[in-house]
Amino acid sequence: MSKVLVIGAGGVSSVCVHKMAMNAGIFSEIHLASRTRSKCDAIAASVKERTGQTVQTYEIDAEEVPALTRLIQQIQPKLVVNLALPYQDLPIMDACLEAGVDYLDTANYEPKDQAKFEYSWQWAYHDRFKEKGLMALLGSGFDPGVTSVFAMWLKKHKLKTIRQLDILDCNGGDHGQAFATNFNPEINIREVTAPARHWENGEFVETPAMSKKVAFEFDQVGPKNMYMMYHEELESLAKFLPELERARFWMTFGDAYIMHLTVLQNVGMTRIDPVMYQGKEIIPLQFLAAVLPKPETLGPTTKGKTNIGDIATGEALDGSGEKTFYIYNICDHEDAYAETGNQAISYTTGVPAMIGAAMMLTGAWTGDGVFNMEQMDPDPFMDMLNTQGLPWQVKELPGPVEF
Ligand code: NDP
Repeated sequence: MSKVLVIGAGGVSSVCVHKMAMNAGIFSEIHLASRTRSKCDAIAASVKERTGQTVQTYEIDAEEVPALTRLIQQIQPKLVVNLALPYQDLPIMDACLEAGVDYLDTANYEPKDQAKFEYSWQWAYHDRFKEKGLMALLGSGFDPGVTSVFAMWLKKHKLKTIRQLDILDCNGGDHGQAFATNFNPEINIREVTAPARHWENGEFVETPAMSKKVAFEFDQVGPKNMYMMYHEELESLAKFLPELERARFWMTFGDAYIMHLTVLQNVGMTRIDPVMYQGKEIIPLQFLAAVLPKPETLGPTTKGKTNIGDIATGEALDGSGEKTFYIYNICDHEDAYAETGNQAISYTTGVPAMIGAAMMLTGAWTGDGVFNMEQMDPDPFMDMLNTQGLPWQVKELPGPVEF
């Protein structure tokens, strides 16, 4: 029985708060604060209607550390769950340290003026959390999050070492819009326009964005083109699985998405540096995000499934030589919408955020300091994925991937 404060009121937060309310035995009191209080109130109303549970709401700018610290001190939660944007990670960690409360997020810190994300800024908080006897859990979404837990489960139960790892993120959903992103457009476009990086023989190798394309047949989705990209879990996987010879991340995009993105890039609309417009500075990508469909509005029209998982090759635990396993989850957009009113991208992130919070609040995962998902026992998390709407399956492949 624990009190929790969730920050941010977008699609991911909506799913997470609904799932917390459905697990009232763990989350006995839910508080929700964000920049726009009406969005918190809308989530609270939906939670009340669907589960009968009450969610308390507040307005807060999470970048105002003293005000956020006061709010945390007033509520006195056991855990702060950060589902705002990556820009707010450090101020929210600062407020948690000040108020003496544990912290969890789903995406690593990114400065506003550079399209660059890495764990160094948050890992630098380790000693301060440790000294205060507090725990911070980083990246408890699907990717990062479940993809790292999948790798560690394979390492615990199937493979002695992981030589090669490929993370495959397929969204086979169709929202019926000419162009829209399934989560925050600004964060999404910054991520996909950044150069690709993969881990090979002890270092990151950089290639131009979207330059490596492979066709892959996804279970229950069908054939899709996937593109190699950089994704933040590659950094923590390379750190916590030092035996990795190669680790790559792939995401599927349709031809229409690529065409729109190419045009937007060519005309300068994805720039993140300020541009003067009618005497005022604007950031083109922020303006673009303001005119694109809001991800939380895509739920009612999105059909199809996501299929996200890991293919890992290494030496089998049972001594039977080299083996390759594929472990993945399939999530249906319409089922996700029916349950919480949000499409599967928000669902596949919000459910693991709730499970990570449950791990911390029930004491299944403990520690003093800043931790990544790879450092925790995968088993209780994997059990909850099965019971909380994201069941997974594992199968053996005939050999390593040929791409
Ligand atoms: P949204 O843009 O839909 O929601 C973000 C929310 O944060 C909004 O309610 C926004 O407020 C609020 N917010 C922004 N700035 C502040 C601030 N200064 N103070 C308080 N609240 C603020 O994003 P999503 O729900 O799609 O994504 C949420 C997080 O999840 C992001 O960090 C994203 O990177 C991460 N994510 C992780 C994934 C994973 O698998 N690990 C996958 C998908 C997303 P307002 O409503 O006023 O704009």
